[in-house]
Amino acid sequence: MDIYDVAVVGGGNAGLSAALTARQAGARVIVLEGAPRDLRGGNSRHTRNLRCAHAAPTRVLTDTYSEDEFLADLLRATRNDTDGPLAQLLVGRSAGCPEWMEQFGVRFQPSLTGTLHLSRTNAFFLGGGKALMNSYYASADRMGIEVLYEAEVIALDIRDGECRGITVRLGARTEQIRPRTVVVAAGGFEANLEWLEEIWGEAAANFVVRGTPYNRGTLLRLLLDAGAQPVGDPSECHAIAVDARAPQFDGGIVTRLDSLPFGIVVNTHADRFYDEGEDAWPKRYAIWGRLIARQPDQTAFSIVDAKAHGTFIPSMFPPIVAPTIRELAVALGLPADRLDATVDAFNRAVRPGTFTHTALDDCRTEGLTPPKSHWAQRLDTPPFWG
Ligand SMILES: Cc1cc2nc3c(=O)[nH]c(=O)nc-3n(C[C@H](O)[C@H](O)[C@H](O)COP(=O)(O)OP(=O)(O)OC[C@H]3O[C@@H](n4cnc5c(N)ncnc54)[C@H](O)[C@@H]3O)c2cc1C
Repeated sequence: MDIYDVAVVGGGNAGLSAALTARQAGARVIVLEGAPRDLRGGNSRHTRNLRCAHAAPTRVLTDTYSEDEFLADLLRATRNDTDGPLAQLLVGRSAGCPEWMEQFGVRFQPSLTGTLHLSRTNAFFLGGGKALMNSYYASADRMGIEVLYEAEVIALDIRDGECRGITVRLGARTEQIRPRTVVVAAGGFEANLEWLEEIWGEAAANFVVRGTPYNRGTLLRLLLDAGAQPVGDPSECHAIAVDARAPQFDGGIVTRLDSLPFGIVVNTHADRFYDEGEDAWPKRYAIWGRLIARQPDQTAFSIVDAKAHGTFIPSMFPPIVAPTIRELAVALGLPADRLDATVDAFNRAVRPGTFTHTALDDCRTEGLTPPKSHWAQRLDTPPFWG
């Protein structure tokens, strides 16, 4: 193979950002992407938006979002378990990111309204992550960056703390590359169910991974085996409630279920297990994957009545609909007596309030465990959806 100044392992947002930066500085760059061309771009292909601080409204962001507020949100989401300097770097540089990305053809869309209400904090890519990655790859091509697809890096030659070379599998053959610098941007191990099982036990077999199947943690393992220092908690993840009917890998954002705060959520025993109305949904939806992962069969059921229709993004797969709670239980394979009792207890605990699905309203339960702190409305209006 040719001589390269920089070899980038992984062709997602991080990898292409590194490759484009290195090329701008005059380096000869090669990107080794494990996926085939059509599926290039890792989880970045699925991403929708970028959280950015800004001191005044921009073309794509409303109002203001200060660096202090961004940092406070980050600390709250991570329960203060955050690397300080990295967090400062992320927050401090975020304001300049859209402009940096735009020079490589990335476009943002005007701010959104509606159930996501993220227009103040998050800039949305026009065309989503797929368009973002296509723009980067087109720029890389124009700028003379070499890209190899189905190029799976399987070994790093690390000696005396220095990476001297990499081994890449290209179909049936393997090649050695000896670049001056190696950048590893090959994602995490989120698609490696065996590795996840070491952390989550047998539950991992039931996980639905909505991102790329190509992030199997090969590079992480190679680096850890070579003595790299692990940081963070490997059980932490951005795990959300996805439709159980979604494919096991690569289903993307459309598999997400947004109905949870507007009804009740029960496990396979038809019992509620968490406050469905705890906090603003965009801030809290990412707790539900972990909550459901701890339930039997890693399965839960979101149940709403006709009053909730129109308050959330509809599911990609059609909901299961029934005229009574008992019939819904039968259709969902839940114990009907128990679901009836759970709904009855919930309905009796609901206190009247003014339902506002876009804000933390005063509709809540009293004397119920777990409580429902907001958006609590009786499930009494057919049809019922599960
Ligand atoms: C469905 C979904 C929606 C998301 N939405 C958002 C959002 O709206 N906003 C947000 O901020 N974040 C979002 N995220 C998270 C975000 O997408 C990721 O944090 C980000 O894309 C990670 O970028 P990356 O470049 O580090 O990894 P990736 O984009 O995953 O890239 C890693 C690359 O490495 C390659 N690779 C892996 N192993 C090897 C190997 N051995 N050899 C060669 N190549 C290899 C893979 O093929 C892949 O292309 C979302 C994630 C998913 C799955």
